[in-house]
Amino acid sequence: MLRKSKIPRVEHYEQFAGRKWVERIHKMAEPLHGKHLVHINATAYGGGVAELLNSTTLMMNDLGIETGWRVLVGTHSFFKATRKMFDGLQGEDVELTPIDKSVYLDYNFRNAIINHLNDHDVVIVHDPQPLAMVQHYKKKCAWIWRCHMDVSHPDKDVTSFLKPLLNKYEAAIYHMPEYALKGLKIPSKVMPPSIDPLSAKNAKMSDKECFSILKKHGIPIDKPFILHVARFDRWKDQLGSIATFRRVNQHLPCRLILIGDMANDDPMGAEIYSSVIAAAQGDPNIIVLTERNDYLVNALQAHAAVVLQKSLREGFGLTVAEALWKETPVVGSNVGGIPLQVIDGKTGYLVRNPEEAAKRCIKIMKSKSLRKRLGQAGKLHIQKNFLITRELEDYLKIIPKYCPR
Ligand code: UDP
Repeated sequence: MLRKSKIPRVEHYEQFAGRKWVERIHKMAEPLHGKHLVHINATAYGGGVAELLNSTTLMMNDLGIETGWRVLVGTHSFFKATRKMFDGLQGEDVELTPIDKSVYLDYNFRNAIINHLNDHDVVIVHDPQPLAMVQHYKKKCAWIWRCHMDVSHPDKDVTSFLKPLLNKYEAAIYHMPEYALKGLKIPSKVMPPSIDPLSAKNAKMSDKECFSILKKHGIPIDKPFILHVARFDRWKDQLGSIATFRRVNQHLPCRLILIGDMANDDPMGAEIYSSVIAAAQGDPNIIVLTERNDYLVNALQAHAAVVLQKSLREGFGLTVAEALWKETPVVGSNVGGIPLQVIDGKTGYLVRNPEEAAKRCIKIMKSKSLRKRLGQAGKLHIQKNFLITRELEDYLKIIPKYCPR
């Protein structure tokens, strides 16, 4: 059953991590009681970072740590510039023009003026968008950069612009050690992301609840469906999912459901969405949804025959953890955080192209017992490694080092 109270509290998570975890986490939080932390990121919804902050910020408050969450304001040109930085940091050749740089710096300055971050004990800045705010404060506390992407092979122009800013931070946190940006003077820490098993998106639903949500949204369930959940973004490769589906559908009657959000910090979303609609046109078995609805995503992930996540580049891929948590196997590409979650042949399959993806989807869709085995192993894997209980503990290991007593 979905939980009635929507406010995440540490005690609610005993069922996943045990009583000892609850006791340990309270003890670990003691030195931080009354401390003032703040997270800053680019968007309140539509992407993994917002998803993570949704619950961790509340749970930190529940632990007695005064934790805030600020979201940047900016114009299209600001988010266009940050989009280039994002792509550049992930390894794309980009041209960061003098105008991009000046708009970026200007909006970081504006956000610094309207966010009063002087009295905090620790400031945690997520991703590159708010990174330059640091230079507008007389620094009295630690600033930590939490990077949600693989920045190990970045575009040189972007990094030569951002490195002096990053060196003003006390530390950088990455999802994996291999993701770290080389040549910084600050220490690196590692903290993979996680999912909240009690959020509207991940809480267990009964079959009845699940079917009623699917019915309410007009999702036909007379045939099995392959699901792709992702922002409309070229790195997420919705077109590759359509190519995969077309191959699968030659062998098995099925559907493809693409559900996608457009984050407000991503100016390319509408363009990618249009290309997906054009590619899907005329095929009644491809359903494209843009509804922002956690319950619907939950029901789709729980009911899908298989989840497809064949991103071309990926930070972590929370959608993989979300699907596995619901015992739905994932066919995904071997990029970013996907191979941390999809253990080939155990929790799903890693693939390189639509041909391989189609073969693996067919294999799973043809065997109920295989789907069940992969799904059950997937849930265990997520339970052990990628639940919010672990992430909270990781924060409490790192933050005290940067927090004055
Ligand atoms: N998401 C959603 N609705 C959508 C598309 C995405 O709720 O239509 C959520 C998805 O369930 C996941 C997050 O947005 O929680 C995306 O995180 P992920 O790490 O997969 O990718 P990112 O967008 O951060 O690159």
